[in-house]
Amino acid sequence: MKDVHLPKKHCKGCGRFFTPHCTQELYCSDACRTAYHHRKYQKRHGVTLWREKSEAERTRVCPQCGISFVAKNAMQLYCSLQCRLDANRKSARQRERQQTQNMREVREARKKRESLHVSHIDEAAAKAREMGMSYGKYKAIVRIEAMHADFRRD
Ligand SMILES: [Zn+2]
Ligand SMILES: [Zn+2]
Repeated sequence: MKDVHLPKKHCKGCGRFFTPHCTQELYCSDACRTAYHHRKYQKRHGVTLWREKSEAERTRVCPQCGISFVAKNAMQLYCSLQCRLDANRKSARQRERQQTQNMREVREARKKRESLHVSHIDEAAAKAREMGMSYGKYKAIVRIEAMHADFRRD
C-alpha cells in the first residue's frame, strides 16, 4: 500500500472528521457503519426502535390486570412478572378446558356414529321382517345383489 495521506472525511455515521485508510472508507468506525445501516434499514422499513418511541407509544394496557404501563421493550405484554405468570396459568387452564371440550366432542361424534350404525342395522332388520326372512338371510341377499350389481357394471 502506498503511503499516501488521504484527506480527512466526514464520517457518514457520526459526522465527525476522521482519517480514512483507503478512499472507500466512509465511516470512522465499525460501530458507525453498523449504526448507519441500522438507521437506513429502519427508515426503509418504517420501523422505530422501541427506545426511540415516545412514552405514549410505549404505553400498553396489561391484558391481565387492565392497568396501563410503559413497556420496557416491544415484547413486554404484561405490566409485571406476576401478571405474566397469572396469564400463563390462565391460558394453560383454558387449553386444558379446550382439550376436555374437544374430547367430549369426539366422544359425542363417536356415539352419534354408533347410534347411526345401530339404526342402520335396525332398518335392515325391519326390512327383513317385512319380507318375512331372517336378518341374516336378508343381509346375505343384499350382499349377493350387490355382487351381481358389480358384475353388471363390468
Ligand atoms: Zn463515526
Ligand atoms: Zn398487570
